[in-house]
Amino acid sequence: MNSLPYEELIADLKQRSLYRQLRTIDAVKGTSVSRAGRLLVNFASNDYLGLAQHPKLKMAAADAAQRFGSGSGASRLITGTLAIHSELEARLAAFKQTPAALTFESGYAAALGTIPALFGQGDVIILDKLAHASLIDGARLSGAEIRVYPHNRLQRLWELLDWAREKRRGAKILIITESIFSMDGDSCPLPEIVDLKDEFGAALLLDEAHAIGVLGPNGAGLAAEFGLIDRVEIHLGTLSKAIGSSGGFIAGPSSLIDLLINRARTFIYSTAPPPAVIAAAIEGLDIIASGTGDHLRAALWRNYEELSLKLKRPKPEGKRSGIVPIIVGAEEQALSFSEDLMERGFLVPAVRFPTVPRGSARLRVTLSAAHQLQDVVNLREAVNALYSG
Ligand SMILES: *Cc1c(COP(=O)(O)O)cnc(C)c1O
Repeated sequence: MNSLPYEELIADLKQRSLYRQLRTIDAVKGTSVSRAGRLLVNFASNDYLGLAQHPKLKMAAADAAQRFGSGSGASRLITGTLAIHSELEARLAAFKQTPAALTFESGYAAALGTIPALFGQGDVIILDKLAHASLIDGARLSGAEIRVYPHNRLQRLWELLDWAREKRRGAKILIITESIFSMDGDSCPLPEIVDLKDEFGAALLLDEAHAIGVLGPNGAGLAAEFGLIDRVEIHLGTLSKAIGSSGGFIAGPSSLIDLLINRARTFIYSTAPPPAVIAAAIEGLDIIASGTGDHLRAALWRNYEELSLKLKRPKPEGKRSGIVPIIVGAEEQALSFSEDLMERGFLVPAVRFPTVPRGSARLRVTLSAAHQLQDVVNLREAVNALYSG
């Protein structure tokens, strides 16, 4: 054991302000959390519509546990496929307006299982530079050749597609991007990417983790907003953010889903998601696609406008979202700002390398429909005060 230098590695992280610690939340009440004896307004959760605290989701989870048990007992292909799994998948397909959908334990597991099930050695995967870790890991695991284009730079994407077509003849080509980027809150130029993809005969995997529930008609995401659902080959989403539960999913043609059932290892070799989690997701989807969902989105945008438009900082490009990054730069400075905000009663995390590139450390504010307007106003003033010294 002594040959493994854990302590040295940890000391090194600390020295570079890159050390991370788990900090326990003792109680949750709406958007307030209590941590180490103090009450904080939570601006760190991805629960954009407040559904993770919604009484209907909690009730659905409790009911499902009563009916089916606290665990699923086995993987989906053994005896883990319960009526509610099938129901959720039918609802997800209807929600995304695709023929079929498949749920996974997490969004991470969806990416890790799906990409290697469809692409491998001899293929080419082209990712946006800011693509989420789960997408990078899925691409690496596949064994395909990986290329990266600078964030949202279509010219570079075109060059890489051209390179792949010329130099990797016959290879399957997959482009991977997010619709709303998790740490920057900006959006990808989807119509242009879809056109490029078609021009080169490539496929597109679109990760809608932060757009689902938030953008598009009924909260169906960015592809739906642009009317491009049928032109995206693989839709990836999570149940863990706006939907207010936990888990991930893929939506697309029935043949895609059928193949994943047969080949996606994170799907095949993992116990089916627990009944409570699935039932909560069904309820969350219901709300998202309803008139209540529209009201919640309106409340989210009201909060967004209150914060983002009046903040003395640059605003993310493209579509609005629930993510408002405040780029600080130095790791240490971001940590100290985050501490300052905590002193004032706001939970806003400092996001550092390797989650974001070195030297682009930031405060990442996530907004919820459930935030009180006054809390948002107070946060904005506290952030503006950080910058006026
Ligand atoms: C959160 C996230 C995931 C992973 O989803 P989980 O359900 O939390 O595992 C995937 N992609 C993006 C862009 C994310 O932000």
